[in-house]
Amino acid sequence: MDFELDEEHLTVREGIRKLAQSRLAQRADHYDQTGEYPWDDVKDLAENGYLGMTVPEEFGGLGADSLANAIVIEEVSRADAAVGTIVDVHNTLAVDPLVRFGSQRLKEKYLPGLASVEILGAYALTEPDAGSNAANQKTLAEKSGDEYILNGRKIFISNGGVADVYVVYAVTDKTKGSKGISAFIVEKDMAGVSFGPPEDKLGIRASHTTEVILDNVHVPAENLLGQEGEGYKIALATLDKGRVGIAAQAVGILQAALDKSVKYAKEREQFGQPLSYFQAIQFKIAEMAMDLDAARLLTYRAAWLVDRPGRWSKETSMAKLFASTAAMKHTVQAVQIHGGYGYVREYGVERLMRDAKITEIYEGTSEIQHIIISGFVLGEK
Ligand SMILES: Cc1cc2nc3c(=O)[nH]c(=O)nc-3n(C[C@H](O)[C@H](O)[C@H](O)COP(=O)(O)OP(=O)(O)OC[C@H]3O[C@@H](n4cnc5c(N)ncnc54)[C@H](O)[C@@H]3O)c2cc1C
Repeated sequence: MDFELDEEHLTVREGIRKLAQSRLAQRADHYDQTGEYPWDDVKDLAENGYLGMTVPEEFGGLGADSLANAIVIEEVSRADAAVGTIVDVHNTLAVDPLVRFGSQRLKEKYLPGLASVEILGAYALTEPDAGSNAANQKTLAEKSGDEYILNGRKIFISNGGVADVYVVYAVTDKTKGSKGISAFIVEKDMAGVSFGPPEDKLGIRASHTTEVILDNVHVPAENLLGQEGEGYKIALATLDKGRVGIAAQAVGILQAALDKSVKYAKEREQFGQPLSYFQAIQFKIAEMAMDLDAARLLTYRAAWLVDRPGRWSKETSMAKLFASTAAMKHTVQAVQIHGGYGYVREYGVERLMRDAKITEIYEGTSEIQHIIISGFVLGEK
């Protein structure tokens, strides 16, 4: 057993940390305040090979493994969690189902563009009546000759309106429940695709989240991902990997909270001594560091496992649940350590607290993670 990262992963970490701290971190407050889409961050990440890195080499990507991807999402999120969302959605939720379930023709059609980031990806599962109960899809896909005609409405879609391709889930057979759901690659420019305005969000404000409206969209049958009826299986398999990304995002946010807390506790003096001399502050920092370590270990283990044969839903859920809970808890504590200065924008700590909250909600809420984990432990899965 080896707890050290190997040379390859250390190199990835060093490179992305340098880029994220020198560029992304400098622009994070601007994007948080304006809610503008961070195109220059996307460009920097694309040019340096981090966005699209999970695409296999034969299709123009780097063939990066899930651990490298997790390290990138962690370091990006440490600088700006909103950009971490963009990386996770593109590198995992859009690329992964194509790699694992796409036909050769579909891979050749979309993966090179996703590798070079000429096209940006998104994942459209959630609907007004299908949130935690994702099987309750209402979007319909009717077969008509060599096309499917899609009608429905997706909500809360990250990269909505900016992404060029969407992995869209829709019902092809109403009589079969979750086994009647299929997955499609839908292009932004197909007639009948439109988008709502970006949601005005609490956190990760630079990652645009919109409705995706499908009004008689004619999708070529070759854009079916996997077989008809495999959509729900594909959605869950994708989320299993995606959860590692959200765990990594939470780890990055938590690391940023610790960095800021340690710095501030040493600088700020009250009662004639630095805050770091007070035991109440020391204990907060100790717990933050301990939970960060545990969250990172669970996340890296999950990242390592998902590239190996087997079903790792319990482990990815544990990583996401633990890391997101810890990120939320300790970003609140980081604000507390900063006192009144933590409550104002200038120090960037309140942004971490706002950004952390989403990690407890998307790609399966904390309640859903409890259900998954207990199901495995109790032998009901
Ligand atoms: C910023 C943002 C970005 C997102 N990005 C995407 C995206 O890119 N693609 C996409 O498809 N979706 C995306 N989502 C949607 C997200 O995955 C869902 O919001 C999430 O799965 C929860 O669904 P819901 O909001 O409908 O909540 P609900 O399912 O209505 O849940 C409400 C509450 O009830 C609890 N609950 C529900 N069922 C149970 C149960 N059985 N037992 C106990 N408690 C339960 C939940 O845990 C939660 O606390 C995004 C959401 C947000 C806010």
